[in-house]
Amino acid sequence: MSNNTPFSALGLDESLLQAVHEAGYKQPTPIQAKAIPMAMTGRDIMASAQTGTGKTAAFTLPILHRLSQMRASSAIRALVLVPTRELAIQVHKSFLTYGAHSPLKSVVVFGGVDMEEQIKTLKEGVDILVATPGRLLDLMGKKHIALDSLRILVMDEADRMLDLGFQEDIARILQKAPVKRQNLFFSATFSKDVKQLAHEFLRHPVKIEIENPNSAANTVTQSFYPVDQQDKPEILSYLINGGKWKKVLVFVRTKKAANRVAELLEEDGIDAQAIHSDKSQYLRIRTLEDFKDNYFTVLVATDVAARGLDIEQLPLVVNYDLPKIPQDYIHRIGRTGRAGQSGRAISLVNPEEKKLLASIAQLINKPLEIEPLPYIEEGEVRPADITEPFSKAKKARAKPGFRNGKPAMKPHSRQGQSGQRQGKGGPGKNHTGRTRTSAPRPKTTGRGR
Ligand code: AMP
Repeated sequence: MSNNTPFSALGLDESLLQAVHEAGYKQPTPIQAKAIPMAMTGRDIMASAQTGTGKTAAFTLPILHRLSQMRASSAIRALVLVPTRELAIQVHKSFLTYGAHSPLKSVVVFGGVDMEEQIKTLKEGVDILVATPGRLLDLMGKKHIALDSLRILVMDEADRMLDLGFQEDIARILQKAPVKRQNLFFSATFSKDVKQLAHEFLRHPVKIEIENPNSAANTVTQSFYPVDQQDKPEILSYLINGGKWKKVLVFVRTKKAANRVAELLEEDGIDAQAIHSDKSQYLRIRTLEDFKDNYFTVLVATDVAARGLDIEQLPLVVNYDLPKIPQDYIHRIGRTGRAGQSGRAISLVNPEEKKLLASIAQLINKPLEIEPLPYIEEGEVRPADITEPFSKAKKARAKPGFRNGKPAMKPHSRQGQSGQRQGKGGPGKNHTGRTRTSAPRPKTTGRGR
């Protein structure tokens, strides 16, 4: 199928075409154009598709189509296995959207919330189940879920499933499913382990590759600032304030860092919230909804918590630190530049992270563009001339007024506030007391949104 294929040429049921039309989609994305007709024939599929490519509809639409052609039953006939709760919610939402005019019932189950509610819903009958492996096994163990009638199984974000150690759970789940079934396998990256899992899982699959799975979405501009670790909070505040960024997703590696970075941004007058797996499911969902609705500016998230986040029109992702696993970088930046929109990913890279940066560049097959670190001197903000990036980063930090000379960096954020901000260095540490009347504009201004 060419990329100009209309949805109507895919052979989907009328009710699905109507739902797609109502969702405002003009045309199938490349993965949809290739996977939907293939999946409708009942064949196994192995697709390399990053998040943001429209891969969810690439399996939800053919599932809804195929089940609508089968005899009605209240048994689970399609199961979508996903690595995280957020992705589970997202996929379930897609079934609700595309199945708006279909009688098929989709149910989602995941851990971290009360099981009783889920059991009650399951008892009402399910056609399509979206589940994380742990909770699914618990419910299967308690006999609330049986997979005897399963016809279609989807493994979504298989690479992440393995990263999160779900291999054994998956094997236990599959033991309880009929061997004769259709399998749809999706992964952003294909390491040796992922290929092995695909090999065990699939029978003569059709391979669908939209673009090099290890190349980051082409629509995302990627660059990095060389910066010492201790300077990351002020650089981040500076970039957000100076660039007047309104909606930023910031990635960190640990839960502790997520809380800390959100706190530091708040201290700098920037509305920020953290999400990670220690926060209750309810709180995570609410925080995400508030972020989508622009109630605050910066969402600081760990890799796990950010899985499956689908935020429309997210122009900017910041890697506060680089992920330990280079593949996670691709997942992170896949949060922006979705469905063909342009996006930007910025990384703050300390000298110790240079090796990780090199692995990422190798994975995405191109170097990340270096951004000149802003100089702040005598209240003047200007881009540094980077020839020796890391030593320049040090020089910039040594200038008076950098970091704890916060007024020079964030003039507009402090004005009109009662009480002097007390930064992480304590009250007034290195404070120059200078103020400016206009926001400094780093080199990046205007490109972030
Ligand atoms: P996914 O890669 O499945 O996470 O989808 C990324 C985003 O693309 C979601 O917000 C979808 O609603 C959107 N999307 C999916 N298919 C299309 C399409 N054919 N046209 C426009 N947007 C789409």
